[in-house]
This record gives sequence, structure tokens and C-alpha cells, in this order.
Amino acid sequence: MTNDLDIVPRLSAREARDLARDLYGLVAEASPLPSYADQNFRLRTGTGAGDWVLKVANTAHRRHFEIQAAALEYLDGRLAPDTVPRVRKTRLGQTLTEAETASGQRHTLLVLRYVEGVPIAGLRHHSPRLLESLGALIATVDRALADFSHPFLVREDVWDLRQAPSHSDESGTIEPPRRSFLAKRYLQEFEDRVEPVQERLPWAVIHNDGNHDNVLVTRPDAQLVSGLIDFGDLLRTRRVFGLAIAAAYAAMRKPEPLAAVESVVAGYHRVQPLSEVEIGTLLPSVRARLAVSATMSTARGRERPDNIYVTGAAAPAFEAMERLAGVDDAVAREHFERACKSQAVSTIAAPGPEEALAARRRHLGPSLSISYREPLQIVRGWMQYLFDRHGRPYTDGVNNVCHVGHCHPRVVEAARHQVGQLNTNTRYLYDQLTEYAARLIATLPEPLSVCYFVCSGSEANDLALRMARTHTGHRGAIVVDGAYHGNTGCTIDLSPYKFDGAGGRGAPPDIRVVTMPDGYRQRFKHSDPEAGRKYADEVTTAADDLHRNGHGLATFFCESLLGCGGQVIPAEGFLEHAFAHVRAAGGVCVADEVQVGFGRVGSHFWAFETQGVVPDIVTLGKPIGNGHPLAAVVTTPEIAASFDNGMEYFNTFGGNPVSCSVGLAVLDAIEEEGLQAHAAAVGTRLQAGLEDLVTKHELIGEVRGLGLFLGVELVRDRETLTPAAEEATAVVERVKDRGILLSTDGPLHNVLKIKPPLPFSEENADQLVQAIDEVLGEITA
Ligand code: PMP
Repeated sequence: MTNDLDIVPRLSAREARDLARDLYGLVAEASPLPSYADQNFRLRTGTGAGDWVLKVANTAHRRHFEIQAAALEYLDGRLAPDTVPRVRKTRLGQTLTEAETASGQRHTLLVLRYVEGVPIAGLRHHSPRLLESLGALIATVDRALADFSHPFLVREDVWDLRQAPSHSDESGTIEPPRRSFLAKRYLQEFEDRVEPVQERLPWAVIHNDGNHDNVLVTRPDAQLVSGLIDFGDLLRTRRVFGLAIAAAYAAMRKPEPLAAVESVVAGYHRVQPLSEVEIGTLLPSVRARLAVSATMSTARGRERPDNIYVTGAAAPAFEAMERLAGVDDAVAREHFERACKSQAVSTIAAPGPEEALAARRRHLGPSLSISYREPLQIVRGWMQYLFDRHGRPYTDGVNNVCHVGHCHPRVVEAARHQVGQLNTNTRYLYDQLTEYAARLIATLPEPLSVCYFVCSGSEANDLALRMARTHTGHRGAIVVDGAYHGNTGCTIDLSPYKFDGAGGRGAPPDIRVVTMPDGYRQRFKHSDPEAGRKYADEVTTAADDLHRNGHGLATFFCESLLGCGGQVIPAEGFLEHAFAHVRAAGGVCVADEVQVGFGRVGSHFWAFETQGVVPDIVTLGKPIGNGHPLAAVVTTPEIAASFDNGMEYFNTFGGNPVSCSVGLAVLDAIEEEGLQAHAAAVGTRLQAGLEDLVTKHELIGEVRGLGLFLGVELVRDRETLTPAAEEATAVVERVKDRGILLSTDGPLHNVLKIKPPLPFSEENADQLVQAIDEVLGEITA
């Protein structure tokens, strides 16, 4: 065993700051972070571009630094962004470097990305959910490391649990003897119970130090871990030992340590199924690791009483050892097996893709479509990430429904609470309904002040159409080419995307279609300052035609930004002029905000505001409930009064207390987390990054967007604008292989659609740009 504690680096913060600047080109303030035997400094750049950590090696730790740097480089791109730190190279492109300190000692340096979050050691409460997610994270990292190789992986290491029995002598010196006895007993138990079956335990490369200072959460209230740091102890050993180490730490400071271990095991098993033999060795492995931690901390604490990082683990380890002392091995095994079984049903044991597809074909309508050549089986979501049945993370670049993030804890809790309290309908009085209506209306301009709640965007548009027809006494409607407004009978009739698409039968007699106000592909180009007005003139022609044919004009339906039409931002002035024509012809104007509302465009809360107009009716859907089936129609008191013509409006589920609670939580999350401003900042960065690719890749015809609603139109020829549909599909497939989900859209299927959940970060944006860049390079190579 090396005694590495004599040669701890002793840099001052000022030296650290200067080294960061001189060697890495990082201008930052340095402040010390805790470390076991090395030195760590947080480097605060103050630029908003994120911080870094300068790690200075104990002289005996050079090889640990080497393996850490190599592993982190290997993991880059194999895990969800920000799960583990990224290596920053020196100005000279080195991964590791050395520096001589003022004391004349040479030390190895490594600079890593500061992973945002707080260590779970600092949380007062560790829920089962948090501990499960810890197990899942350890397993995910184990899986990602499966093929990593490095000469230092195979070594004799005091922290390798295989070496546990070697601590036995040292444990004899622990005071009081009661504790020494327990430590010895657990180390002996490891020898008796684990060693004989070791040959049957799978090998793996493991992180090997899932202690609570190394496990991070970004949103403590969410109780889900997000990051793992410190890869210096990485080694190749029996796979189950990494889990046992994380579980041993989870057992500390818990009134019921066995339950805590069980949660970690369940989470691990969900991602990386455990064998029966592994499950059988868990309790003795956890107890042995607690004994090792307690023994090492006590011994080293004598040498370095000033370092809490060293001494801190002893007391909680002993306490957990004592609490686990009464646990019967067979009982523990039963617990773990049960925990693994209940998980297995919901995830890993789910049928594979072929079976799942076959089951769909048997029991579901064949007109349902499915994304990707190899369909994804997503089992879990968290903010802008989705995880498949193997625990592989994907960055979601396209689901604008889970607006504030998949499984946003605030929304989940609001739904959970209200489901357990009451769910009724609008024939009763309850506060959530009126409170929610008032909160929604406060986001909209006057005179939009009357709400109707429904359950889908289609239903909202269906109701809006009925309102417009009732109010005007006419039937005719004008829609924009390429538009999609819903799946009901009436809204299919409003959707050229459907009625002019495959299986469609063209426009019904009382519907007129106007050209998409698209300054890239259609007649009037971006260069024409009057393009918006010119496109809008078609509305007058359409209205006249409807009147002439006896339908009259009830309404003009328009998505504020065109979604299925290909992520098109209408030419400036289009809505203003179109609305004026519609009103002059006696119709009402409906803005369909189902895709684009709730702050996505960044500059405004509603996308119609970007055109300086106020519609007569607004329809809301998708993001409004973050995935819960909620939608709404908001209109003026005048239209609401006409619609109140004696026929009751009743919607069994629309506006129920659960939906309203969910809607309120979504509004709270947008507000409290500043998601609109975030969409503006990240959207601007993403669009700029994509625009930089235009000069590099001929295939990109146009990049367009507002906030986090963007489109990249691919063309084979920039003059003829020949659509590159197959290439767009190929980009989506290959970007998926790199762990990012997008889709294609537009009438010519050649537009990459980007509309992620709003927590999508700057780093996600940069990775997306890089992925598209690489993939376009591959396709055209
Ligand atoms: N309007 C627009 C603009 C849409 O994009 C959609 C759905 N894609 C709808 C309405 C219909 O919403 P839902 O699927 O919730 O019925």
C-alpha cells in the first residue's frame, strides 16, 4: 500500500489561477474544493460559459490522473451531456501536463469541466427515487465504460473491494473494541461468502467510488441524480463491487440502511440486470465496504486529523455497520430480489423492439406511424433527456410537448397531489379552474379574456371553428397551405397537410387555401420588404370567392409560426395584413398556438405577438400541460356571448382539477426557471451555430427560427431549391445514432425540425450543431 499522503500538493489559489491562465488560457478566479489526497480548485470564469476544475495530483497519483483523463475522454459523447466532466486540453493540446510549484515540487495537472450541481452529500433527504437514480447512474456509467481499456485498469489497489480482507489487521486498532470487532466480522464475512463465488461474478470497468461527494444533483427538489465526478479510482474488477460501494454510501446516515441499499440496487438492475450470484453477494459486499471505509478513515484520520474529507466517513460508516448488523442475509437477498423483479417488469424485461412492433400490429390501427428505421423504446424521461430500455440517454431535440422538461418534478407532483385529492368536472365549483383561467389570461393581451378548456389541440381548433361559425353565421374558412390543425373530422377539413396529402381528398367546398408566407421557397422572397402584405392579399381573394359561392367567411385559421408547413416564420406583416382583410370581410381570426406558445419563441410569450397582432380566438395545446392532455381556447367576451346561444357547452374532462393543477405548475415552472429568456438565449446560440454551417455545407438551403423553434431546410441545389428529402431523413437517423432526437417536416419532407423541451442547454445546442455538421460531412463525403 502506498502512503501517498505525505506528498500532497500545496498550491495557493493564486498559483492555481496563474497556472490556469498560462497553461490553459483560462482567465478565472481559483477557489479550493475539498479533496482526499490531491488538490482541486474551482476556476470561475464569470463569463456564463461555465466553470472548470483544476486538479493538482498528489505526486503518487500521476497514474490515477492518467486513467481519469483517458476515461473521461472515452466517455465524452457516450453519456448524456454533463453527466461526467469533460477534459480541457492545455494550449499545447495536452490532456495532462506538469508544473513546478513555488515549493519546488512537480505536480501533474488536469483541467476538467465543472459539472453543475451539488453533491448529494449535501442533501438533507435522500428519497428512494434519488437512490434508485443513483443506482441507475452507476449502472449507466458501467455500461458506457464496458469497452474502455487502459494499462492502469489492472492493478492492486486498496480501494478494490477484492482487497477487503487485507484491511483486517488494521481494523484491529479501531476504538472502541465493539467497532473493531464488527469491522473484523464483516471483512471475514466477505472472505467466507464472497470470495468463494468470485469466479462467477462478471468483470467490469467501474467508477469504483460512488460516494456522495462524487454524485451530483442539479435540482435537489427533483430527487434525481444527474452527474458523477472523480474517475481517479476507476479500475477493472468485479462489476457488483461498484454497486456495493455506491450502496454502502447510501446506507450511511439512514434510519433504514437496508431500504436505502435496496433502492440503489433496484435502480442499478433497471439499467444493468444483475445475476442471482451478484445479488447474493450484495449484503456482504456492502458491509465489507463499510468496514473498509471505517478502517481507512480511522487510520488516515490519525495521520491527517485536519482533513474532514479523510476523517468524515468513519462515524457514519460505523453507524451504518451497526444498523446493518442485525440484518439477516437471506432476508436481504429476498429484499433485493423483490426490488429487482418489480423493476424488471417495467423496463428491461419489456419485450424487445420486434415483439413490441408485432404487438402493435396485432392490436392497433395500422395508420399509426412510428419514428426511425429502428424504433426507439423509451422507458424514462428527465428534462431534455430520454432513456431507452438499455439506459442509453438521448437528448430530445424535438418534443415541444414536454415543454418545461420530461417528468418535470413540479408538474409531476402537482398531478400526483391532485389525483389523490379530487378529480371532477366543471359542473362543480373549484378554485383550480378559475385560478388557472386567470393565470392564463394574464399572459394574453386584451380583449382575449374568456377561457374554454378541452383535452387536445384538435379539440381546441374544432371548438374555435364552431365558435367562429356561430358568431358569424357563416361556414367558410381560409387556411394556409401546409397547415395542420388537428385530427377530428372538422379539423382535418382545415388541414391542407392532410387533405392535400396522402389519402386526402382535397379541400372541402367551404375551405380556401392561401400560399404559405414563406420568403425562401414561395413567390415573394425575403428580399422583398412587401412580401408579407403580398402573401396576405390572397386572403381577400379567398374571402371573395367564399362569399361568391354562398359560404360566406367565418374564419381565417393560421398557426403563428408554421409547424407542419416546415418550421416557417411567416413573412413580416403577413398576419397584420391578413387579419385586416379577414375582419373587413366579416370573419374572425384564429391563431393556432398549439405548437409554438408558452415562451418558446423567446422574445414573447405568444408567437402571434412577434407579428404585432391580436387574434379574436387563440387555441392552445401541446406544451400547456407538459404531456398531460390539456388544451384551451381563449376568446373575446363578444364571441363568447354569441357562442352562448342556448346550447350548453360541456366537456367531461376539459378543465378538470387535475388538468388545471398541471397547467398551473407548468406556468410556475416557466416563470420561476426563466424558461422564456432561456429559450431566447439558447435559441440565438443554436441558430448562430447552424448558420455557421451554411457556408460549409451546400446542402443547407436555409436556417430559420425564433427562440427554440427552428428549421433547417435541405436542398440539393441552391438555385432550383430541389428538396433533399432523403438526405434530411438520413441526417435525422445519423444524429439519432449520436444520441440526439430530431425529425423532418414540411410538405417536401426536407426540413429538419428542432423544437426541444425548453431546458435544452447551450451545451446541448453546441452538441447538436456539431452532430449536424459531422453528419452532413458524412452524407456528402
Ligand atoms: N395545431 C397544430 C399547429 C398542431 O401542430 C397540432 C398537432 N401536431 C394540432 C393542432 C393538434 O393537436 P393534438 O394532436 O393535441 O390534437
